[in-house]
Amino acid sequence: MFGKKKNDDALPPFVREATDALRAVRDPAFKADVVTMGFVSDVAVGEGRISARITLPTPSGPIRDNVRKQAEEALRGLGWDMEIAIEMKVAGQAAAEAAPRIRNVIAVASGKGGVGKSTVAVNLALALKARGRRVGVLDADIYGPSIPHMLGAALQRPVTSQVMGKDMLVPVERQGLRLMSMGFLVDADKPVIWRGPMVHGALKQFFTDVIWDELDDLVIDLPPGTGDAQLTMVQSVPVTGAVIVTTPQDVAMIDARKAFNMFRETNVPVLGIVENMSVFCCPNCDHETPIFGEGGAARWADQTGVPFLGRIPIHIAIREHGDDGRPAFVAPDTPEPIRAAFTSIAGEVLTQADTNRPPEKQLSLGS
Ligand code: ADP
Repeated sequence: MFGKKKNDDALPPFVREATDALRAVRDPAFKADVVTMGFVSDVAVGEGRISARITLPTPSGPIRDNVRKQAEEALRGLGWDMEIAIEMKVAGQAAAEAAPRIRNVIAVASGKGGVGKSTVAVNLALALKARGRRVGVLDADIYGPSIPHMLGAALQRPVTSQVMGKDMLVPVERQGLRLMSMGFLVDADKPVIWRGPMVHGALKQFFTDVIWDELDDLVIDLPPGTGDAQLTMVQSVPVTGAVIVTTPQDVAMIDARKAFNMFRETNVPVLGIVENMSVFCCPNCDHETPIFGEGGAARWADQTGVPFLGRIPIHIAIREHGDDGRPAFVAPDTPEPIRAAFTSIAGEVLTQADTNRPPEKQLSLGS
């Protein structure tokens, strides 16, 4: 049914009218309205009821809710005084079925590279783990998959396992985290040219073809930037919300704003913003220098109403332990305030995720 075109003239008049009303339903994630896109099927009118099925190509909860609400309004607008029943479905149920087993899907994003997105993603995951949560990390940074290296797992490879006749990938276990990375599957020394459909397919497969089991949190390290690759990725999996990492520099803030707008346009909630490299902590005298400026992200968060999740200083321990396979959060010589900063950010992220998670997931998984 999905994607098939129907000859509208052959439809009974009421059904045609109801279908036409649904042409007003659009979401910024789609190029055209839901009827033109071929998402609408099984429109029926009769016995006091208008019903329709809308099959979306994405399992995104916010997009589904937006489309359902618009569809109900459009049909109410007909003024027929009938019960309205919209059935929402996801094309390729596998992605949707995988979703309820993961409580929070947290996408870590940045407007540009080099701001510490992967560093924040990996330390955030470890800080969540330290709270006794079951945590997975999905390194989707196709341009520079660095998380295996950061967790000392660069030489490991996931094995496959058959589940109900299907080959599935078993995540690599590292520091108590379940890890899957584009870096495991491509040759690190050979550049990979990813085209749109490949990017889309790859992330979706990491969702549906990996044995994540029950997870409290899946942290996704997105590729830096706000182009098509990032867009297709966030749309192809049911993201609870995004965390935007930035430095306080003006140029980085411009890109962080772009990232914020991208999520807003695609109805992905922004859980908040993390200011990384906010001040330089001298390891000898503890003197703090605001190398990239000060407070820019907090001010912007204040102005726009985006939650400010916290700030991480520039510290040699963070860089060194990013390279030695034992991230700062778990390294014994990391200064306590740095560990505390990640712990606090993890707490804020969970608070925001609770606020943004669709209600049915809270019911089905409990806490
Ligand atoms: P991105 O994922 O945004 O490209 P990375 O997380 O790979 O950025 O970080 C880029 C470099 O900066 C890495 O060498 C990392 O160790 C270092 N780095 C990131 N955050 C900090 C920090 N707060 N203090 C010191 N070094 C940092």
